[in-house]
Amino acid sequence: MKVNRWFHAVLSAGALAVAVVFAAPAFAQDKPAHNHQEGHDPKQAAAKIEAALAKLPKADRAQADAQRYCPMMDAVRLGAMGTPVKVMIDGKPVFLCCSGCKDEAAEHGKETLSKVEKLKKAAAAVAKLPAADQPLAEAQLFCPIAKGSRLGSMGTPVKLMLEGKPVFLCCKGCEDGARGNAKATLAKVDEIKKENAHAAHHDDNGHEHKHGAAPKK
Ligand SMILES: [Zn+2]
Ligand SMILES: [Zn+2]
Repeated sequence: MKVNRWFHAVLSAGALAVAVVFAAPAFAQDKPAHNHQEGHDPKQAAAKIEAALAKLPKADRAQADAQRYCPMMDAVRLGAMGTPVKVMIDGKPVFLCCSGCKDEAAEHGKETLSKVEKLKKAAAAVAKLPAADQPLAEAQLFCPIAKGSRLGSMGTPVKLMLEGKPVFLCCKGCEDGARGNAKATLAKVDEIKKENAHAAHHDDNGHEHKHGAAPKK
């Protein structure tokens, strides 16, 4: 599978999907029409993640499950790039998507730890959704209304049906905005999902993300 380099460049520059998700389309014209049905089979991806996580020692596994995402590449599920890399920061275990994230994580230790706490809270909040909704919310990961707001960061995500499609919001406060322009909301959700899918596959080309930015708070 071919993964576009422009995306990696953008990813490494922004590190967080916050900036990435909305900046990326500007670069899209560099490449011929981006093919998004390129075999991102969610079941296969989930099996790959499970196999990678299964290699962790039991105690680490529980902590990686609680954290669920990499603090440096926060749209990347732990396990999506192989067995997560454990580092200790101020005596606390932190799991990273890959060894390429190590230096940056250590250099910005405080931010990394605070990001990890946020990821844990968000994961716990998403886990309160009905089981069938959790993978849908995770495919989306961010609110389409409050830019860059992670689902779960403001409590259990709010689910809406817009034109028959499920949409998740970070909070009730985003509901009017989402309903007010259903088409734009759905388009934003699609855009976010595509960027997420790419982030989770950024190893398919050999690993080349270098992390230029500190994690945001
Ligand atoms: Zn990484
Ligand atoms: Zn909200």
